[in-house]
Amino acid sequence: MNCEGLIDLVIVGGGPAGLTAGIYAMRAALHTVLLERSAPGGQVNLSEAVENWPGEPHIGGGELAAKMLEHARTYGLEIRSEEVVAVEPGLECHTVRLAGGEAIRTHAVILATGGSPRKLGIPGELEYYGKGVSYCAVCDGFFFRGKTVAVVGGGDSAVEESLYLAKLARQVYLVHRRDQLRASMILQQRARAECKIAFVWNSLVTGIRADAGGVQAVEIENRLSGDRQVLAVDGLFVFIGFEPNNALVPAGVRMNAEGYVITDETCATNLPGIYAVGDLRAKYARQIVIAAADGCTAALAAAHYVESRKAAGVCAVPPPDGGGKLR
Ligand code: NAP
Repeated sequence: MNCEGLIDLVIVGGGPAGLTAGIYAMRAALHTVLLERSAPGGQVNLSEAVENWPGEPHIGGGELAAKMLEHARTYGLEIRSEEVVAVEPGLECHTVRLAGGEAIRTHAVILATGGSPRKLGIPGELEYYGKGVSYCAVCDGFFFRGKTVAVVGGGDSAVEESLYLAKLARQVYLVHRRDQLRASMILQQRARAECKIAFVWNSLVTGIRADAGGVQAVEIENRLSGDRQVLAVDGLFVFIGFEPNNALVPAGVRMNAEGYVITDETCATNLPGIYAVGDLRAKYARQIVIAAADGCTAALAAAHYVESRKAAGVCAVPPPDGGGKLR
């Protein structure tokens, strides 16, 4: 086979899972490239504060992401700001295609593409995105100082972001489709103790009323009584979970009904040399610490996989340029 330009590992995605995979891959001396289309750090960048990263009782999301990036860079990890358009599995090696037309051939691929906010799917939601509708309190909360906002959802994100918004806004309505929150107990207790947060139970946001100035109100329906009300708000924040970013998952890789990639305990997919980590992977809980653990596991497994291929004689000799740069 043609070994020229073949590298050991491509990591697609630079959130906690991808960056941790990068750290472990570099420590395992794998020739690794990490590709990230936007800012490294992923969703952590969007968190005001992280309080469950061991050793850091309270750290800004952006600060934690920056520390992870810096840590990965200390090992010399090559991080490229590139959009991946396809991951093509092969029998001899895998190919990662970039938007600019470049193709990177690699023994192994770790998919760390994370997830995106789930949408409510109501009329006006996309039209008024950025004009009152938001999926990120840290990014947009500033615009709602002294105003009234509605937050949809009952999980950790909705409650955490409601608490953040309560520091800025005059009033926060937390609209949840049941009468029990899914969020962790510590967040629930804080939210219940916050006088600016009012709970709207068993309710769905069914419509958005807006004008040229942006969102003016939301229409709400009680799921039990069928009663409808219009709540005057300046903003609507939606935190109803995430959907896996699985567009780059190659055909043939097994996924569950929700579109999460099914792996074994080493984060290996059913295709040899292709791994899935972090929020893309089907698993019990989605936490930063678990994403990082996935990245570690997959990198160790990928190192073993690459070593076994080389031991079997597949491109054991480094390319003439020393296994170096792709650019
Ligand atoms: P989540 O835990 O899946 O919660 C989504 C919430 O939205 C649920 O309360 C759900 O209601 C509601 N919901 C779903 N679809 C809806 C719809 N169409 N209309 C109205 N409501 C809807 O999502 P998340 O809060 O974004 O959290 C995602 C993961 O990240 C979780 O594993 C979470 O623990 C983790 N996370 C952790 C932290 C932290 O540890 N500090 C912070 C943020 C996120 P039901 O309850 O009725 O299903």
